[in-house]
Formats: sequence, structure tokens, C-alpha cells
Amino acid sequence: MSITIALSKGRIYDETLPLLAAAGITVAEDPEKSRKLIFPTNQPDVRVVLVRASDVPVYVQYGGADVGVAGLDSLIEHGGQGLYLPLDLQIAQCRVSVAVREGFDYQAAVRQGARLKIATKYTSIAREFFAKKGVHVDMVKLYGSMELAPLTGMADAIVDLVSTGGTLKANHLVEVERIMDISSRLVVNQAALKLKQAKLRHIIDSFAGAVVKG
Ligand code: ATP
Ligand code: MG
Repeated sequence: MSITIALSKGRIYDETLPLLAAAGITVAEDPEKSRKLIFPTNQPDVRVVLVRASDVPVYVQYGGADVGVAGLDSLIEHGGQGLYLPLDLQIAQCRVSVAVREGFDYQAAVRQGARLKIATKYTSIAREFFAKKGVHVDMVKLYGSMELAPLTGMADAIVDLVSTGGTLKANHLVEVERIMDISSRLVVNQAALKLKQAKLRHIIDSFAGAVVKG
């Protein structure tokens, strides 16, 4: 029985490579230089598939992949149904924050109990956060370039991933609240865990041993 590992291109792929190496898995070809979506590895019964970051939980949930690496942000939005999450891999670390245009009085807007217009890809995270604060929000779902929404007057605030804050700064936005810290998790299909226990245990244990704490 072979193992399919779902990853996304970019930082998750790059930061997962050392963990795969710890499990004795090396990918034969550089995905950044290829248009293929399925990549063989040095192990005949292990392959890597590349999907959108937010699709990793979906592939693993429905058995398109046995195991994957997904950001906590994607996992919360997905809901986590059918997934076993054995490990915080401590990679792709960032945070989900609220940001507004420079000069926008966020504290006053929140205090006055007015409706706040929020643009975000992370509607579940945003909804729960503002519900807990008792702030009424109108949610606009976006799929990218969230920074543009407050600048065009489409929203008062955005809820987005922040790491250095460079993108916010370049667009004259300021981070006004940190909602949660984010890192990537190992995601395992629960049925596959029973069916392919030895192989998946080896991957989980090897990854666990290679996680850089801190
Ligand atoms: P797509 O580009 O397919 O719409 P995406 O933008 O979420 O998806 P990436 O930018 O590759 O995909 O991000 C993948 C994951 O890496 C995110 O889900 C998040 O957990 C994490 N991440 C995103 N941006 C950063 C960042 N600036 N620094 C560290 N980790 C990040
Ligand atoms: Mg991206």
C-alpha cells in the first residue's frame, strides 16, 4: 500500500523537505521547476502531490492523500472533519491579525458598537473572534490581496496573515489586533492511519523527531 503526501508549493514545501528527509524521503525533482502535480520520491511506495494550501485538508479528508502539511489557518477554515492532527511542525509561522488603514480609529469603531465591515479569506476565524468581542460585523469573503479592501473603501478592516508586517506597511495599513499564532500541522487521514499504520507511524515519528522546537 502506497502513501500519498499532500503539500503546497512555496514555504510549506520548502520547510517540509527537511522533515521528509528525516523520514528518509527525498523528492526526485524540484516542483518549483516543473508543471507536474505528482512527484515520485526515492521510495517506490511514497509520492508527493502538490495542491493549493487551502486544499491540503480537503485532499487528506477525502483520501486523495493519506497525509499532508497544512497551516492552522487553513485547518480552522476547513473545520478538521476526518482529520487526525498529531503534530505541530512549528514551520510557516505567522499570525492572523486585524489590520486597518492608517488613521482609522479602530478602537472607537469597536467601542461604539457600530457594524464593522471586514474583508477576509478567513471568515470562520474572523466571525468567531468578533462574536466573542460582541462586535457586529459584515463579512466580505476574498481570496487574495486583502490589503486592497480598506484602501478602496470596500471594508473597514481586514483579517489576514501577518509575518513581518512588511506588506501591511507598504500599503499604509496597521495591525491593530493579533487574533492567533499560526504554524503548520501534520494532517493524517483517520482511515489511512488504521490501514497503513506502520508507514504512517514512521512518518509521524520521524517528523516528530525533526521538529525544531521554539
Ligand atoms: P494560495 O496562494 O494557494 O491562495 P496561500 O496564500 O494561503 O494559498 P501560501 O502563501 O503558500 O498559500 O501559505 C501557505 C501557508 O503558509 C498559510 O496557510 C499559512 O499557514 C502560512 N503562511 C502564509 N503566509 C505566511 C508568511 N508570510 N509567513 C509564514 N507563514 C505564512
Ligand atoms: Mg499566498
